[in-house]
Amino acid sequence: MRVFEIFTSIQGETSWAGIPCFFIRLAGCNLSCEWCDTPRARDARVGQEQSVGVLVGHYRQSGIRAAMVTGGEPLMQAETPALLASLLEAGAAPALVETNGSFDIGVVPEGAVAVVDVKCPGSGAGGSFLPVNVERLRRTDEVKFAVADREDYEWAKAFMMRHDLAVRCRAVLFSPVFGRLEGRCLAEWMVADRLPARLQIQLHRVLGVP
Ligand code: SF4
Repeated sequence: MRVFEIFTSIQGETSWAGIPCFFIRLAGCNLSCEWCDTPRARDARVGQEQSVGVLVGHYRQSGIRAAMVTGGEPLMQAETPALLASLLEAGAAPALVETNGSFDIGVVPEGAVAVVDVKCPGSGAGGSFLPVNVERLRRTDEVKFAVADREDYEWAKAFMMRHDLAVRCRAVLFSPVFGRLEGRCLAEWMVADRLPARLQIQLHRVLGVP
């Protein structure tokens, strides 16, 4: 697999925010979002080749329970489902995979959790979401929207309601785009609308950790 980096840190997003986590960041992405926070990992030629076995070995040595496969776009790589299955076998709980929603999440093995980042229009990648993924979502999966402004918010709210995401999956996360929208402002909109979603502040950025 093409791996950009592996590291341990606090899980900064998802409903597991705050727990220690082992991260595998894969290289390569098919999108170019306006505010990508990992631009160097978008190039599929960076990083190095590592086998699933070696990666899972690093996970075991870390002594950490939670694991997240991120990117880049992890589902671009054919071996990602096997990596997730091996992490599960090795005891990862949860075994998370963060995806931009443009690839079929049906390949994610049972027991692993897909965290699907549905791109809002302001990202420049709106329309990249693969519609069949709405049907693929499991009750244990999570959906995230990075919201830059009111237009993004209204778009995400309509998407969430149209697809009944609050009952379809474990959590719906609304995250303010760093430097573009105040978390407090987004919180006020969510409360005013009685939105059945969770405000997500990127904890790793607040803490200044990877
Ligand atoms: S999908 Fe993720 S890695 Fe790819 S460009 Fe967008 S933010 Fe960056």
